[in-house]
Amino acid sequence: KTDGLANVSEIFNQFDFEGDIQKARPFGNGHINDTYRLENTDQTKPDYLLQRVNHQVFKDVPGMMDNIWKVTNHISNSKQADFKQETLNIVKSHGGQLFTKQEDNYWRMFEFKKGTKSYDVVETPEQAFQGALAFGCFMRLLSDFPADTLVHTLPEFHNIILRLQTFEAAVVADEKGRAGEVRSAIDFVRSMAEQMCEIEALRIKGKIPLRVTHNDTKFNNVLLDEHDKGVCVIDLDTVMPGVVHYDFGDGIRTSTNTAEEDETDLSLVHFDIDKFEGFTSGYLEATRDILMPVEIEYLGISGALLAYIMGVRFLTDYLQGDVYYKIKHPQHNWDRSKVQLELVRQIMEQQLDIKKIIAKQASIIL
Ligand code: ADP
Ligand code: MG
Ligand code: MG
Repeated sequence: KTDGLANVSEIFNQFDFEGDIQKARPFGNGHINDTYRLENTDQTKPDYLLQRVNHQVFKDVPGMMDNIWKVTNHISNSKQADFKQETLNIVKSHGGQLFTKQEDNYWRMFEFKKGTKSYDVVETPEQAFQGALAFGCFMRLLSDFPADTLVHTLPEFHNIILRLQTFEAAVVADEKGRAGEVRSAIDFVRSMAEQMCEIEALRIKGKIPLRVTHNDTKFNNVLLDEHDKGVCVIDLDTVMPGVVHYDFGDGIRTSTNTAEEDETDLSLVHFDIDKFEGFTSGYLEATRDILMPVEIEYLGISGALLAYIMGVRFLTDYLQGDVYYKIKHPQHNWDRSKVQLELVRQIMEQQLDIKKIIAKQASIIL
């Protein structure tokens, strides 16, 4: 454990930062990495963010950091003035490395973006618009970067075809004897499977272009300023080749749900169509003229796909006896799964309205 400043300072002093740091405190609501904010006593210099990378999840830390280095440089050097955006700035180690290794832990440092905040829950359609505009700019600025030069940090992360195979194996094994209790969810997952595999099947056939995607476009992975304007897309660990539907879909999944991820009262789970419209108009403002028709055509179900992937993963973990996600009580994964699958149901039910909004926002206005 590295709680005290003494231990943390041993680590941050290996990095090539400016100024003088006297204070380090745990920061943020991330679920994956351990994050510290480092306060600079020299007001003319930035604060910093020190992160211990979750090496259990990310097996190839050097490859991941190399990806982040490449895409952040590309964004910084972009000439697309209209869509220009800040990016994370890596602080290298004294030895010029993108991270340091201390025993079994990997550490890295970024400049801290002052005057920003990240929202775990989107409050207004306008916030959804601003965050989505930033995510859209991120994709746009990387649209001329060669995606195939990036490492696949988490191979097949969003491959629902493979996720369903794991799910079916878990149903058959039924190690905890839980399959009976969740029968209705199993039936629902199976009834949706064909439709939910469509995007992935098109990707595998090469019918949807491979892009540089973020792959974890949860709404708290974009920083907004004090006026709620988008500043910077963060949490770039999962940047790798993918399809636009992963990013648009996860943004929709996390910004339109009115309930908590583990809400037990499903009547509180609502797909908020106004936030959907806000997110969609922001995202398409930055991307409508670079996306191909086939990409736009499948945006409508992509929110359902990303909710479905999460619903299937939670349900699989419940069937396997809670081996992956941290749980607070025995039903936790089952509760989480029900919320996601309810969101899938609602998004599919509202496809007509969803497609109308996408068509309206996607039309190129000259
Ligand atoms: P995790 O993978 O654990 O979600 P993140 O990289 O998203 O880790 O960081 C956790 C939180 O720290 C973010 O949600 C955000 O609030 C904050 N954060 C991350 N990077 C920065 C930064 N460069 N400047 C300011 N805040 C940041
Ligand atoms: Mg994060
Ligand atoms: Mg992360």
